[in-house]
Amino acid sequence: MSETIQTLLSEERRFAPSPEFAAQANANDPAIYERADADYEAWWKGWADQLDWFEPYHTVCEFKAPNAKWFLGGKLNAAYNCVDRHAERTPDKRAIVFEGEPGDSRTITYRELKDEVSRFANALMQLGVERGDRVCIYMPMVPELAIAMLACARIGAAHSVVFGGFSADSLQERTNDAQCKVIVTADGGWRRGSIVPLKRTVDEALEKGCPSVHKVIVLERIGPDATNPVAMVSGRDIWWSEIVSVQSTDCPCASMDSEDLLYILYTSGSTGKPKGITHTTGGYLTGTMATSKLALDLKDDDLHFCTADCGWVTGHSYIVYGPMACGATVLMYEGAPDTPEKDRFWRIIEKHRATILYTAPTAIRAFMKWGAEYPRRCDLSSLRLLGSVGEPINPEAWIWYQEEIGGGRCPVIDTWWQTETGAMMITPLPGITETKPGSATRTFPGISARIYNEEGMDITPADGSRHEVGGFLVLDRPWPSMTRGIFNDPDRFEKTYWSKFPGRYFAGDGAKLDEDGYFWLLGRVDDIMLVAGHNISTMEVESALVSHPAVAEAAVIGKTHELKGQAIAAFVILRSDHRHDGDPAHLVNEIKAHVAHKIGPIARPDDVFITAELPKTRSGKIMRRLLRDVAEGRALGDTTTLADPNVVASLKDKYESTE
Ligand code: ATP
Ligand code: MG
Repeated sequence: MSETIQTLLSEERRFAPSPEFAAQANANDPAIYERADADYEAWWKGWADQLDWFEPYHTVCEFKAPNAKWFLGGKLNAAYNCVDRHAERTPDKRAIVFEGEPGDSRTITYRELKDEVSRFANALMQLGVERGDRVCIYMPMVPELAIAMLACARIGAAHSVVFGGFSADSLQERTNDAQCKVIVTADGGWRRGSIVPLKRTVDEALEKGCPSVHKVIVLERIGPDATNPVAMVSGRDIWWSEIVSVQSTDCPCASMDSEDLLYILYTSGSTGKPKGITHTTGGYLTGTMATSKLALDLKDDDLHFCTADCGWVTGHSYIVYGPMACGATVLMYEGAPDTPEKDRFWRIIEKHRATILYTAPTAIRAFMKWGAEYPRRCDLSSLRLLGSVGEPINPEAWIWYQEEIGGGRCPVIDTWWQTETGAMMITPLPGITETKPGSATRTFPGISARIYNEEGMDITPADGSRHEVGGFLVLDRPWPSMTRGIFNDPDRFEKTYWSKFPGRYFAGDGAKLDEDGYFWLLGRVDDIMLVAGHNISTMEVESALVSHPAVAEAAVIGKTHELKGQAIAAFVILRSDHRHDGDPAHLVNEIKAHVAHKIGPIARPDDVFITAELPKTRSGKIMRRLLRDVAEGRALGDTTTLADPNVVASLKDKYESTE
């Protein structure tokens, strides 16, 4: 890659926080940034001191790259902080509001949550799970998933949640890597009106071989159903209700060291073999609690709807640990956004009066594609804040989200972070930060991000000398919720994150910093194209494509070209309300011209291929490396982490037949 990443797309729209929002926000004093920067250890200590510690820590931070320790010597328990202390102070407050896909609903108070978590913790202990062991959780999005996570935390076992959409192979690989003793699953979950046969997949994984597993706990989510036979292996498999019903609601919280392992979570694998990202107790809770309070602006009377599955880090940090450390009420939804109709999220918000919505660009682009008539049917006036995470959000999607879902009234926070960072790193503070659609704006207080070039130079402009730069996003200061490493693979950890810029955390993403010091995430570095000597980010071209009225979603890749190095190829999905008459070639030319007009002739795609679907990971991210395989006529690379491998196979067929 050449010295800098040029960035071409310009976005002029600005949204300042409304005075009403700012007045009630948890953070509304801009001096917070300077205060945190002046002494970041003191800043994080202030947050850690809002946790309940069994024994105080003696040192805030010890850091020698790549190893960090936070709140050394302190003892605490994550379940105590997320459950017990609220069960004491606000026992009748709702912890979880659950909506099942078939329409069933349940509410669990903090008092009830404490009882359920304690019972399940006792059940795990009865099955021989001890402090320091690992437990695999492979469940639908039901309250028992959160209960199982918190029960592990209560007894000091680490959980490894595997998303319920993963195959038997993926489950086996992750279970063996973490050496889990027990798998917690369900007879099934509901997704698009069908049963996801989780227990059967567990059986398959165990048949393939998971020697460390000796017990399987099976929640009765579906119940007896002729189409979903569940075989229980005697001596190995136990029904959830059977083992839990005989347990006491009394279970002491283990006193854990601040640096004890809380969980392992395998990243989605957009870039290769999954990595077992580890998080520890004190620092992780500190980071997720602080960001929940200040970025999500979480309050006592909020109903927080995070649409992520607990199989992803967003569910860990912003359904379970962050909000619950704050004693908040979270909404958990089991199923698909289009079941029974494409207005399901909006129906849920209307029914439960949700106040905060935290979702992903891939979902927002699907909503745009389906059309505004769905949200317009529902009363969304309870919403007061909108969040986005997972991919760069294209400015057009940002504006649509703000107008159609937020009614023009709710601030939008675009939050950049990773499984590895544990908590949000770059995000607006909604009562302080003026937002620009498409920019994640500024680092969270206490976090320091820089832009480096290929030669390893820090090219971040000094304060006061403001000009735009583009390059590699680097975090150059430790933070409490940073991963402590890849489970059992310190070399890969060092090599992946800490060796490109020695001693600095390299996130793997490209970013630009604009004249106001705002960050614009450009996607993974591997997804940046080199076209005729210019580095162009796929994200910028995609944003230009999506700003064409006919285009709902786009994926762009650089395809090898003899003259230019790379040529831009775009795969686009049209909006369902788009009517075009006549020649598709005409529309394709119009789209190409639109990009050239928006960004410049250099970014004009050579190919625009209209498709009905794009290959995505199970967490909804576009897998560009497979599109490069398609465009360059290669055999497809590893497709095991795709949500639906058929999508890319049929795309390849169609693409090749038009070439
Ligand atoms: P793997 O590391 O296994 O390939 P992954 O990176 O998709 O998987 P996550 O940790 O869930 O797994 O995702 C983090 C990545 O998602 C970031 O590195 C970035 O590329 C992207 N991302 C997350 N939030 C944003 C955002 N607000 N803007 C831009 N990109 C984002
Ligand atoms: Mg990643």
